[in-house]
Amino acid sequence: MLWSVDQGCGHPPNTFRDDDSAVPRGPKDPVEGFFVYMIPFRNTIPASATLAMNALALQKRALGQRVFNLSAGEPMVVPHPKIVEAAEAALRAGKTLYTPAAGIPELRRAASDWLNKNYTTQFSSEEILITAGGKFGLYALCRTLLGGGDEAIVIAPYWVSYPSLAEMTGARVDTIVTQEQNGWKVTPEQLNKVITQYTKIIFFNNAGNPTGALYSRDEVRALVQIAHEHGVLFVSDEVYSGLTYDGEFTSAGSFPEYRDNVVVIQSCSKHFAMTGWRVGVVAGDKQLIKVLADWQSQSTTGTATISQWAAVAAFENTEVNASVKTEMQSRRNALVDALNQNFKLQLTPPAAGLYVFISMAALGVGETDSIAFCTRVLNEANVAMVPGAPFGAEGYVRLSFGADPTELEAAVQALAKYLKK
Ligand code: PLP
Repeated sequence: MLWSVDQGCGHPPNTFRDDDSAVPRGPKDPVEGFFVYMIPFRNTIPASATLAMNALALQKRALGQRVFNLSAGEPMVVPHPKIVEAAEAALRAGKTLYTPAAGIPELRRAASDWLNKNYTTQFSSEEILITAGGKFGLYALCRTLLGGGDEAIVIAPYWVSYPSLAEMTGARVDTIVTQEQNGWKVTPEQLNKVITQYTKIIFFNNAGNPTGALYSRDEVRALVQIAHEHGVLFVSDEVYSGLTYDGEFTSAGSFPEYRDNVVVIQSCSKHFAMTGWRVGVVAGDKQLIKVLADWQSQSTTGTATISQWAAVAAFENTEVNASVKTEMQSRRNALVDALNQNFKLQLTPPAAGLYVFISMAALGVGETDSIAFCTRVLNEANVAMVPGAPFGAEGYVRLSFGADPTELEAAVQALAKYLKK
C-alpha cells in the first residue's frame, strides 16, 4: 500500500524549534505531539521478475528445501584467479578511495581496447563510462534522454527491465512483437513502422535475453540504418556478446557511418561471471558520455574502486572470458540434452546467452498463464523457472543454464516427473 498523507496537527513542514534545530522530516509518531506527515510515493515500478523468482528459490533453500534453480540470470562459477588477484592487490595497495565519476582511466582504456579488439569498434577511452552494472548505464541513459511525451521502442521478448526503465521517466513504451518461427528477430520493416516523431530511443538486445537470438552483421546494419534515418538513438545492449557459442557477434557500434546515433551497453557481469561486482560500461559519443558522467557524479558517484581494478584484469586477460564461455557452452549443451531426452524434443541450442526460452506447449503444458505455471512448479516441485509474461511473451518460460550441469539435469528430471504426474 502507498503511504497516506496526513496533515497531523497542522505544523508546516520544516518548522523550527525554540533551539533552532530542524524538526525531523518524515513520519512521526502522533503521540509525541508533533505532526504526522507522509509523502506519497510518486513513482512505483514492478520489481524485476527474474530477481523475484530467484529470491523465492533462495528463500526456500534457506528453509532447508532442495530447490532446483533454473532462474538465475548469471553464470554461477567462482571468480577467475586473475580477478581475485587484481582485487586483492588493489586492496593491499589501498586503492579504496573514490574514483573519478566516469571510472578509473585504466579501466576506461581496458574496456575500449577490449571492445575495439573483439568487435572492431573504434571507441576512445573518453567515449567510455564505467557504471554500477550495465543496468545503471541504461538507467542513467533513460534519465538523461527521456521524459514525458517521449517514446521508447522495445522488441518483445525483451529483457524485463527495459519497459520499466523507460516508463519511470514518464516516457511511453511502444512494443514490437517478434515470433519464434522467425528466430525471435525484428525486421527493418517492423522497426520502420513503429517509429514516430516522438521516438527517442530503441532498446536493441543482441545477443538476446531471454531468446538467445544472435543477429548477423547485415541484420544489425539494416536496423541501425533505420534508426539513423529517423534520428533515433539505437541503444544496443550487448552484455551477452562474450557468451556467443555459434556464429559471429556483431556490435552495433562497429559501423563508423552510424556511430553518432549508437550507444553500446556492456558489462562484466556475464562475460566474466562478475555479476556481484557491479561493473558496467556505456560506450558512445564523447559529449553524451560527459553528460552521463556528470549525472553519475550526482547519483552513485561511480562503482566500487576494488571492482574497477578487478575489471581491468578481466578485460586484459583473454582467458577470463574464455573460461566462462567454455563452461557456459557445456552447460548449455547439458540443459538442451536433458530437455530433449526428458521431453522427447529436438531443440536447437541457443546461439548465445545464458538461457533456453521454451514454450509451455513444448513441455506438454496446456495452459498459457506463465506466471501461474512457474509459481505452481516452484511451490509444488521446487523447480525455479522465470515466466515469459514479464518478457512480453506469454505462454513461454525461461530456463537458465547458469547453474552447474548436475543441477541442470536434476532440475529437468524433477520438472519432467512433476509434469508427467
Ligand atoms: N541487459 C541484459 C539483457 C541483461 O540480461 C542484464 C542482466 O541480467 C543486464 C543488461 C544488466 O546486467 P548488469 O547490470 O549486471 O551489468
